[in-house]
Amino acid sequence: MKYFSTRGGDELLSFEETVLTGLAPNGGLYIPEHIPQLPQGWQSKWKDHSFVDLSVEILSLYISPEEISQKELRALVEKSYKTFRHPDITPLKKLNDKKFVLELFHGPTFAFKDVALQLLGNLFEFFLLRRNARKGKDEKPERLTVVGATSGDTGSAAIYGLRNKANISIFILHPKGRVSPIQEAQMTTVTDANVHNLAVKGTFDDCQDIVKSLFADHEFNKTHRLGAVNSINWARILAQTVYYFLSYFHLRSQLPADEQIEIQYVVPTGNFGDILAGYYAKRMGLPMGKLVVATNSNDILARFWKSGSYEKVDTNGGHLHAGEGEATAPVDGASDGKQAGPTPSGGVKETLSPAMDILVSSNFERLLWYLAYESTASPGSSDSDSERRKAAGETVNSWMAKVKNDGRVEIPVGALELARRDFLAERVSDEQTLETIRHYFGSEPSYVADPHTSVGLHAAQIIARNNTPSTVQVVLSTAHPAKFSEAVTRALEGASNFDFEKDVLPEEFRGLLDRERNVIDVEAPQVVLVKKVIEKFAESEAESAEVPGGSV
Ligand SMILES: *Cc1c(COP(=O)(O)O)cnc(C)c1O
Repeated sequence: MKYFSTRGGDELLSFEETVLTGLAPNGGLYIPEHIPQLPQGWQSKWKDHSFVDLSVEILSLYISPEEISQKELRALVEKSYKTFRHPDITPLKKLNDKKFVLELFHGPTFAFKDVALQLLGNLFEFFLLRRNARKGKDEKPERLTVVGATSGDTGSAAIYGLRNKANISIFILHPKGRVSPIQEAQMTTVTDANVHNLAVKGTFDDCQDIVKSLFADHEFNKTHRLGAVNSINWARILAQTVYYFLSYFHLRSQLPADEQIEIQYVVPTGNFGDILAGYYAKRMGLPMGKLVVATNSNDILARFWKSGSYEKVDTNGGHLHAGEGEATAPVDGASDGKQAGPTPSGGVKETLSPAMDILVSSNFERLLWYLAYESTASPGSSDSDSERRKAAGETVNSWMAKVKNDGRVEIPVGALELARRDFLAERVSDEQTLETIRHYFGSEPSYVADPHTSVGLHAAQIIARNNTPSTVQVVLSTAHPAKFSEAVTRALEGASNFDFEKDVLPEEFRGLLDRERNVIDVEAPQVVLVKKVIEKFAESEAESAEVPGGSV
């Protein structure tokens, strides 16, 4: 399997190159040459598979065995999901006959990004070790320096994905004193030698600006081989397809074999990575109804499905800030490095579901490619497939240029119809988010949802009004409620029978605040100060670099 850029060009990359490159040089995202179809008899063969077994089956449809053998792949996947606390990795919980939650937060940092980042870290390490093993004695080993900024929500998932990995250093900047205590502790209590937390005296915007400057500095970038682990990395999407399959089998096994149902996945969405994985699963042949995009008031996607216009403009006003969307990304969300054009509204709205506070959804471009490609197929046309692909790349290129220059693009009606064939979309306010947390806490069985999951649960309620009786909803639960304790406490503080310590706080968070810290203070928001820190550690870490042929 090879990969190409959504913005066209002749470049065809291996899986390894795709993963190590991340963003294509022409600004596009990599997608597979074709979407593989499920093998004959997959339902009976895979029905009792574990998460790891399913990962091996599905990932190997996208990775040539010459690149990673089945045996190597299994070892990588096993290592990646050993860090999860639940035997199912992503367990399915029943709320009622028509509604289930798929819990994606049983990884080391209690949020869904672990599912992808645990694997991504191991893939990086595997590729670097192999490259270095092939080098001559006097050649310098390849290393990777991952740099990112976080306002707290997602930095820890990157740190836990890369901690203790050979030939990789990670530097995560956060605004000192402006991150919630639990989230700060999650990051700074990781004491591995290759992990560096930089507490920058300044704002999150300052941190993000510093990271952008570092990536834009070609000399520095080349010397240190800077890398990002943003949500556009193809390996992250791929890793996330697995739980759609697992939950399908888990749901089926709870129902009589002859019961006909339609599964409707509802996904709290920011950068469109999680739900895009569901789209690939659907296109591969996993039976499901429409996928539901659930957004908070940063609703560019919900507006797109209503109007066909993909438009940054925020016509509702509201409290604005830079938005995280994605921790470690110079190119994601509001911080999108490609979006140098005017941003009419200035920023993102701050909501109770901050991991979904984005201005544009970075992975949406991948869906746009399929919409462009498929909507241009005219019946009886003699265009060859390669001509159609070329045209689709040009179309996406022009759409993204419009977004960059005008802040918006209008998609042709044929493409919008295709988007509506596979997706529904709803927007959920903060008020509704709190209300829904209260509702499910008071339901039988009682369930404490985090604010992101609550956005999904509320969108599911709205959509359910028009569902057929045979529809069963699976809402993806993207974070543990303790990770977003302020919103949860705010929603439930009036409930007499609610006790945060007893009902929500996991064992692992107890005592976290008192543990040893690994953090470097940066006294002013200046690029030179951050460069100094990176240079200092890069030198010593390169010297102690793992000898080729080490672990994995
Ligand atoms: C990142 C994140 C999301 C959004 O996922 P996307 O793939 O960006 O759409 C939702 N909830 C939580 C808790 C997250 O960390």
